[in-house]
Amino acid sequence: SLKGKTAVITGSNSGIGLGIARELARAGASVVLNSFTDTDEDHKLAEELGREFGVDARYIKADMSKGDECRALIETAGSCDILVNNAGIQFVSPIDEFPLDKWDAIIAINMNSAFHCTAAALPKMRTAGWGRIVNVASAHGLTASPYKSAYVAAKHGVVGMTKVVALETAKEPITCNAICPGYVKTPLVEAQIPDTAKKYNMSEEEVIEKVLLERQPSKAFATVEQIGGTAVFLCSDAAEQITGTTISVDGGWTAL
Ligand code: NAD
Repeated sequence: SLKGKTAVITGSNSGIGLGIARELARAGASVVLNSFTDTDEDHKLAEELGREFGVDARYIKADMSKGDECRALIETAGSCDILVNNAGIQFVSPIDEFPLDKWDAIIAINMNSAFHCTAAALPKMRTAGWGRIVNVASAHGLTASPYKSAYVAAKHGVVGMTKVVALETAKEPITCNAICPGYVKTPLVEAQIPDTAKKYNMSEEEVIEKVLLERQPSKAFATVEQIGGTAVFLCSDAAEQITGTTISVDGGWTAL
């Protein structure tokens, strides 16, 4: 059980981050949800999650594109035994036309935030004598696709940083690993299905198999619960000697 541990999950008011927060809470951890917004819904989401699993749950606003706000998130959280670097965005464009502001935002949110949050969380983990850092990278942290230069660069960067942090903490009761999902069924991905079906004049089933899951041999999405379960496993005693590595949850994508 993760009772007594506090988990901070960046970018967790939807999708994979929320799924991970739910599974960590189910396992008994106190959770801190985060995004760059500060709405009643954000705070209600934390309240309801706390009530559902009988754990302490808070929402803290912080913009992961800004280094000082990343560090402030960890400070405001107080303790941080489990850090899940999950916040991420995507933009697709040929590299010679890639908008500078989009490049900078992807590198900042998808990669630099993991640096800032890790730097702020490590001293707390050392004081507590236990820590788990789980980076949500991607199959694109291990392989590439055209038109995703910023995303692929950032995710490869996160995988590299994961190895360095693992080496710097190797003799301590702290581990650092990356989860590399293929396509995960999130509200964002689901929302694309009807439009893509119209665009290609295909059925929604065909779009899933031939367009979205073209590179995923299982032809099935991973679920946010499965990504959350993988995070819980990385926080378990069984995973104590797992550090500096990646766990793919990609239906065989990177086996191809
Ligand atoms: P999502 O859009 O549902 O979630 C992204 C989260 O990040 C949201 O909670 C959003 O509010 C938050 N966020 C965005 N910008 C932020 C900022 N500046 N500051 C703080 N929070 C911010 O998408 P998702 O699919 O759940 O993605 C979560 C992570 O998983 C990302 O790092 C993404 O690259 C990775 N991933 C997703 C998939 C997939 O198929 N969905 C596959 C591989 C990896």
